[in-house]
Amino acid sequence: MNLHTLSVRQAAALLETGEITSVALTGAILERIRALEPTVRAHITISEDLAFQQAEAADARRRAGQRVTPLTGIPYAVKDCISTKGVRTTCASKILANYVPRYNATVIERLEDAGAVLVGKHNMDEFGMGSSCENSAFFPTHNPWDVTRVPGGSSGGSAAAVAAEMTPFALGEDTGGSIRMPAGFCGVTGLKPTYGRVSRYGLIALASSFDTIGPLARDVADVALVMQTLAGHDPRDSTSLRAPVPDYTQAYTPDLKGLTLGVPVEYFTAGIAPSVETPIREALRVLRDLGAAVREVSLPHTRYAIPVYYLILFAEASSNLARFDGTRFGLSETGADMLAHYTRTRAAGFGAEVKRRIMLGTFALSSGYYDAYYLRAQKVRMLLRRDFEHAFAQVDALVAPVCPTPAFRLGEKIADPLTMYLSDVHVVAVNPAGVPALALPCGFTADTPPLPVGMQIIGRPLEEVTLFRIGYAYQQATSWHLARPNVKYEG
Ligand code: GLN
Repeated sequence: MNLHTLSVRQAAALLETGEITSVALTGAILERIRALEPTVRAHITISEDLAFQQAEAADARRRAGQRVTPLTGIPYAVKDCISTKGVRTTCASKILANYVPRYNATVIERLEDAGAVLVGKHNMDEFGMGSSCENSAFFPTHNPWDVTRVPGGSSGGSAAAVAAEMTPFALGEDTGGSIRMPAGFCGVTGLKPTYGRVSRYGLIALASSFDTIGPLARDVADVALVMQTLAGHDPRDSTSLRAPVPDYTQAYTPDLKGLTLGVPVEYFTAGIAPSVETPIREALRVLRDLGAAVREVSLPHTRYAIPVYYLILFAEASSNLARFDGTRFGLSETGADMLAHYTRTRAAGFGAEVKRRIMLGTFALSSGYYDAYYLRAQKVRMLLRRDFEHAFAQVDALVAPVCPTPAFRLGEKIADPLTMYLSDVHVVAVNPAGVPALALPCGFTADTPPLPVGMQIIGRPLEEVTLFRIGYAYQQATSWHLARPNVKYEG
């Protein structure tokens, strides 16, 4: 048996009966990582020693008859913006290249408490800024379906690793599509939870009012299982919600009778590739066959989503990144005086995209421009939010493409930031609105090799359970989520 091919639930069942041990499973995953890493390049750090320690502890816990959970002994890895105690956490930036946190993010604590096994840290666009994983200061990640293409960003390492069976599940961060877009490009399932549902404590902030942490895995049921462990109130995150966490596994129903799904017309206009639209339309037919009513809805302010998202993101990021000054942690370049110390550290430590955004954000927040840009963007943000509220008064969830095109080629958009930003057109409105969205595979293009196409299901605040219900019924009726890439070794 190739243990690296197991889903979370399959592995959990075999651990439960004692057919496999966590040490064996962890060994198989690390071997798979070693075999494919030169081709896929999904990892910044591999935490082999810690992984074996945690795997042994998980096996001992089971042997001793102590409390176990479905995640006890299951390997996972996380995007490198999530703080891991004693394990380097870089945000794929030179400025944090040698930063080793002294504490765990709440999500890591929760997974550790559940008995999961941390095998490594995934590559990403520097500080989460990008849509292709090419903005990593270290190396780009390759799409396992076609290694000449990008995995999407910014959680590209996480999505590529799940697709290439280098981990059964991963955690990503979604500030403006960074879980959904790579999930779509790599053919895996990923959830951007409701803002505040999962603690941000220990997540290195990009745009604090948009940032969310969520799971990526091979199917909806695995994503829901991981979400069960992640979700819940955390007093260490002041924006964390107190709402009780439902039992997500109770969500599943064989059909979708009684649900109404909305198709936002603005998401199907000019610019969407036929190779994406055809599978999405087919998915809508499947959802209708499952008993859901499907109707068109309008999100009239969609055209403002990109400018509003990017303006607010630049502003919040420029403020959040002010802390990287070489004084307390990270890269430190000496200068003749304090100002020279700051400027030399930041000039050497940040990449071009990060600098661009800091400058644009600082400009948008500066006196005289604040009202014209930042304040105005906050007002339009309310209009985006209301668009969703109006739609959710008519329908239970929305179905849309994740991205207007399939995975593009490495290098194709990197020289033109605006073109890169525009690839986010279908994902960014969700974050200013704070609503949850589930991305899942719904077909392939006719390219050689074929590329996955992703759809997203967007829900009301805190209604992850409805998204899981729809996604689960869809995956029971289809097999797109079962397809695996045949990763071609480059030599
Ligand atoms: N493409 C988005 C950006 O570059 C992704 C942000 C994110 O979700 N981390 O801002």
